[in-house]
Amino acid sequence: MKRPAKRSAVRFLSTFCIALLICAPGCTKDKTASAASDPPAPSPAATPGKAVLPAGPELHIDPARAWQYVKDIVAIGPRWDGSKGQERVGEYIHAKLKGDLVEEDAFVADTPAGKIAMRNIVAKFPGAKDGIIVLGSHIDTNYPLRNTKFVGANDGASTTALLLAIADQLRGKKLEGYSIWMAFLDGEESIPSATPGDLRWVSDQALYGSRHLAAKWQQDGTAAKIKAFILADMIGDKDLDIQRDSGSAAWLEDLILQAAQKLGYQSYFFAQTLNGLEDDHVSFAHAGVPVADVIDINYGYNNSYHHTTEDTLDKISPKSIQIAGDVILETIRLLNGGGGPH
Ligand code: ZN
Repeated sequence: MKRPAKRSAVRFLSTFCIALLICAPGCTKDKTASAASDPPAPSPAATPGKAVLPAGPELHIDPARAWQYVKDIVAIGPRWDGSKGQERVGEYIHAKLKGDLVEEDAFVADTPAGKIAMRNIVAKFPGAKDGIIVLGSHIDTNYPLRNTKFVGANDGASTTALLLAIADQLRGKKLEGYSIWMAFLDGEESIPSATPGDLRWVSDQALYGSRHLAAKWQQDGTAAKIKAFILADMIGDKDLDIQRDSGSAAWLEDLILQAAQKLGYQSYFFAQTLNGLEDDHVSFAHAGVPVADVIDINYGYNNSYHHTTEDTLDKISPKSIQIAGDVILETIRLLNGGGGPH
């Protein structure tokens, strides 16, 4: 994600893992924003009169369990692609999903640092309704920081834990709505070169796992069955402020906001809008899937915790994970209730 110095309402992001620009409502782009995408059509709230009624039982994640998962994953240590930690986090996810329907999408990524074995893990919870909702998180930690103690408590661990905590709520239940799949995605972080500390974001040298899985799903017809792909990234931040993303489907973000309003969490959502955000959701958008990225890219003062060894457990909270998890679960109920493009 990329990160800027704060300049009045506009921030320009320069050196991190997701290329983007943050723009508060009503701000104008300055010339440094020219590489970012055009500003989105304003879509500040769920469209009046088009509110959807949720279907199925209300579900909530267990924040204590989610927190335990975060701690376990952080305790594994760095989990960059090719590391022992990467193998171990895969084993951990499999262990927590034991007995569930789980598939692997293993492949070898051709990166500027050489060929690296990667694997996406997909857990499937079948529903009665025709169609699939996919929830995603990346599981890797930043490769260029492999010579440091970077453990990605927020950037990698928090959302991997979140998906496991959501799986706990679906397991053993008869799902009357769409099937829910969890995509644990490898290789999100950019690998621009073999040089440690090279934190440049290079679009075609990142998102390896999601690009591989999206291409596979496009080829085998799965992509056409996906009603929504909801990505979670960096939502563990104690100071939670999830941004709207102009590259996400506006109707899907409106449903997310409606879900947040229902739960009283709307103050954590969409005070700012991101333009030009590159994250795993983009791979699925290219495959024709409606996508949304639930992301908080404001991590620490001036983003000082992002892609630094400051990204540790003390900077994140179970409450933030709970807010994101419960809003995603409520969004699923809205999708099951017929929520879709306006
Ligand atoms: Zn990152």
